Amino acid sequence: MSQPAIEPYRIKAVEPIVLHPPEMRVSLMEQAGYNTFKLKAQDIFVDLLTDSGTSAMSMNQWAGIMMGDESYAGCRNFFNLQDTVMDVFGFENFVPTHQGRAAENILFSMIIKPGHIVPNNMHFDTTGANIRSNGGTPVNLVIDESYEVSSTHPFKGNMDPNKLTALLDGEGKGKVPIIMHTITNNSGGGQPVSMANIKEIANIARGKGIPFFFDACRFAENAYFIRTREEGYAQSSIAEIVKEMFSYVDGWTMSAKKDGLVNIGGLLAVKDDELMGNIRDTLILIEGYVTYGGLAGRDLEAMSRGLREVLDLDYVSFRVNQVKYLGDRLTEAGIQIITPVGGHAVYINAKDFLPHIPQSEFPAQALVCDLYLEGGIRAVEVGSLMFATTNPETGEVVYPELEMIRLAIPRRVYTSTHLDYVADTLIRIKSKSHQLGGYKIVKANGLLRHFTAEMAPL
Ligand SMILES: *Cc1c(COP(=O)(O)O)cnc(C)c1O
Repeated sequence: MSQPAIEPYRIKAVEPIVLHPPEMRVSLMEQAGYNTFKLKAQDIFVDLLTDSGTSAMSMNQWAGIMMGDESYAGCRNFFNLQDTVMDVFGFENFVPTHQGRAAENILFSMIIKPGHIVPNNMHFDTTGANIRSNGGTPVNLVIDESYEVSSTHPFKGNMDPNKLTALLDGEGKGKVPIIMHTITNNSGGGQPVSMANIKEIANIARGKGIPFFFDACRFAENAYFIRTREEGYAQSSIAEIVKEMFSYVDGWTMSAKKDGLVNIGGLLAVKDDELMGNIRDTLILIEGYVTYGGLAGRDLEAMSRGLREVLDLDYVSFRVNQVKYLGDRLTEAGIQIITPVGGHAVYINAKDFLPHIPQSEFPAQALVCDLYLEGGIRAVEVGSLMFATTNPETGEVVYPELEMIRLAIPRRVYTSTHLDYVADTLIRIKSKSHQLGGYKIVKANGLLRHFTAEMAPL
């Protein structure tokens, strides 16, 4: 039997959560059109919709909130953040942004021209969209193992260097303005990237004179995986590993809503002074002055403190192992999940869980709905509702290979008891899974339909 990870903190402020009676959940779900995005958060017992912006801040961060200096220019919190960015990442040039996608928007608007191609292990949806909106094409060059549900590869987020070289020497010749690498690979299940792979991609980039950047949202979780899975790092601190990782890149974008341990915030850092000058000009135009970038002084302070706290080995080890604990409990109960478990979420294979429901009837969404009906738990569908496409000429529907539900774990928010409750609820659903039926779409808009679609049980 797996053992729960033990929280390396005690609780000082509590936020009540309520489990409504089953009949009430049934009627709330019906009102929400069987789409959990449309539920009110207050009607949810355990909310695993996302790990983004949902972290609990520490007493040190809350104390920092009271140290907010709300001067328009040159507030003290900016200089604290500057010290942190230098100490943690070794970068001098950076700007704060209100969240990650603002950093992407500013960077890509500066360097991407129509016809450009941008490789990544796997682009996050806002990253890909920001590249497309500037006329570029995002391409995913993750290793093939990333697409295997039960692979045991320790670094499923690695980029395939052969695929990259083939692109740079082939159709991408002269058309690649930047190479990105997402640590950990969110769209691929929170899978880590090895130090060896970072070095190898950096060498290829340097050989071609192309800037190499991280999409760095989960840098500390990635560093923890390097420490525990890659030879030569078992004695290194998380801070040392992070420093080394960032020594190989020319810049990075970051949503601090993940490993920054804050509810809002982002960063954009580059080595190139001239590029930084242009970034500062654009920042002023769309986010705010260079020393606040769309955030209040107090937010800068919370981010500065969060970026240091996340390096604590006790914290990050608990974090990754708490997510793994949930995965292990499901595996032990015969529920098929994507392995190895990534840094921030557990993904359940809905095709295996509900083999009697065809993809045309949204098995993953059926499981998401039942998880709320059974236990007041919110998860998110990553399957046909999110990704199925219709061929405009033939009208034929193309279904995604993977049909999953994602249980994303907010940082420092839920205890192991909550995760046991989630596991027990899923195990109960599994024991009567043959009773679950499929769903149909009643109303949907084309793009990103999963956010707003209305569904009904068949
Ligand atoms: C969350 C995320 C982003 C976008 O950040 P926001 O703060 O949501 O704008 C970009 N890349 C990755 C890998 C992410 O997880």
